[in-house]
Amino acid sequence: MIAYRVAVIGGGYAGFAAAVTLATAGRSVTVFESARTLGGRARRVEAYSVTVDNGQHILLGAYAQTLALIRTVHGAGAEHELLDRRRLCLNEPGVFRLSTSGLPAPLNLAVALLFARGWSWADRQATIAFVRSLRREHFRCDGALTVGSLLNGQPPAVIRALWEPLCLAALNTSIATASATLFLNVLAVSFGAHARDSDLLLPRVDLSSLFPDPAAAYVADRGGEIRKSAMVNGIAARADGVILRIGYSEEQFDAAVLAVGAHQLTHLLFNGESDPRATVALAQVAAFAYEPIVTAYLQYSTPLELEHPMQKLNGAPGQWVFDRGQLDGPPGLAAVVISTDLPSVRTGHDALARSIDAQLRRVLPSLQEPTWMQVIAERRATYACTAGLARPAPGMIAPRLSLAGDYTDPQFPATLEAATRSGVAAAQALLQASA
Ligand SMILES: Cc1cc2nc3c(=O)[nH]c(=O)nc-3n(C[C@H](O)[C@H](O)[C@H](O)COP(=O)(O)OP(=O)(O)OC[C@H]3O[C@@H](n4cnc5c(N)ncnc54)[C@H](O)[C@@H]3O)c2cc1C
Repeated sequence: MIAYRVAVIGGGYAGFAAAVTLATAGRSVTVFESARTLGGRARRVEAYSVTVDNGQHILLGAYAQTLALIRTVHGAGAEHELLDRRRLCLNEPGVFRLSTSGLPAPLNLAVALLFARGWSWADRQATIAFVRSLRREHFRCDGALTVGSLLNGQPPAVIRALWEPLCLAALNTSIATASATLFLNVLAVSFGAHARDSDLLLPRVDLSSLFPDPAAAYVADRGGEIRKSAMVNGIAARADGVILRIGYSEEQFDAAVLAVGAHQLTHLLFNGESDPRATVALAQVAAFAYEPIVTAYLQYSTPLELEHPMQKLNGAPGQWVFDRGQLDGPPGLAAVVISTDLPSVRTGHDALARSIDAQLRRVLPSLQEPTWMQVIAERRATYACTAGLARPAPGMIAPRLSLAGDYTDPQFPATLEAATRSGVAAAQALLQASA
């Protein structure tokens, strides 16, 4: 029997979710990735000879698809070596603290809100009533509603300490424009069913090693091929196959999954793909705006000694600090994250690093000068997850051509989970179409 050959374009989490699904189903898979390192927007980089990531990432217990794929490629028992799992604890020492217990949902959140530190009794009561009303509505709302409007009337102290930081961390979009529907989806999956769904999972390994690298080995073990530094310049989907243009040559496959970032899609569908599904997807993507995320790494000579590996900062300018020393990284290595396009990040990297260092040393006065600092700014970290934004769905956009990518998942905002869900959905659509 001649193997059914599928090309996957894009070696990020979406592309490898598709590749693993297709390889498991017995398809012959070739993954094309333009970069030398696999992982796309979640990949390993080197800073001062230390392995870090292009951006500090957080996973949630509710990332069911991502965790299932990690188990597929690493083996069932590997999670605790790869990920530090803890109950959700949002902590800005001296200002605010909220931590969930092991109680079953929804009690875990109710009790966490009841015992939150840093709010008045009235703030806590109003917040519990608000969450109850969200639950009564099954965490649903009008698609055009922004998070800001959803929070109308909520105590400003709670918006500042809880809702706004959660919205920035989950949607990478300011509450003024962020989609309330997607925000509620995240709350629903995190707090709607099991206590473990709201757990925070912090990688103990770099993001390429967490999934894309072992996924590549999994695909290769099943007869597939991974081509790194291989830029696909164009695609034409025909009734009998898909032609990829790579450099000056062309190669034919039986089908393809297109798993590139939203902004990389347009120039790939060359010859003006005429299928109306592709035309609609391209028009929707053309209307996207993007948001940056900055991660600053600062190496100190002494351990940070944070109570938890992740701690909230006051946003001036860092929003969160991660103690990479507690996550199997070098002791004293801090990763500080700033989401969205804020005036504070529109400055030179040196000035930003110095200002983050000063902020950290105010919070942790025992720290001395860092031995090195590196700022990594991802300009298009995610699409701006605004209210009412029309987005393509994962799946077939032309005969033999299936679309994947974090921007296509209807339920999650631009996250690793959206990427892996979209990759699996795109692969399943292709398998169904070719059955
Ligand atoms: C700094 C930062 C922090 C983040 N924090 C979090 C977080 O805490 N939690 C979370 O869940 N998510 C987070 N995200 C979002 C998450 O990383 C993305 O949603 C996810 O990685 C997107 O995966 P993807 O496969 O859809 O796209 P991508 O990762 O963009 O993959 C697309 C791939 O296609 C390749 N490609 C593009 N064009 C071509 C071509 N023509 N030929 C061949 N290859 C091509 C690209 O090189 C890339 O590798 C963060 C993102 C960033 C940048």
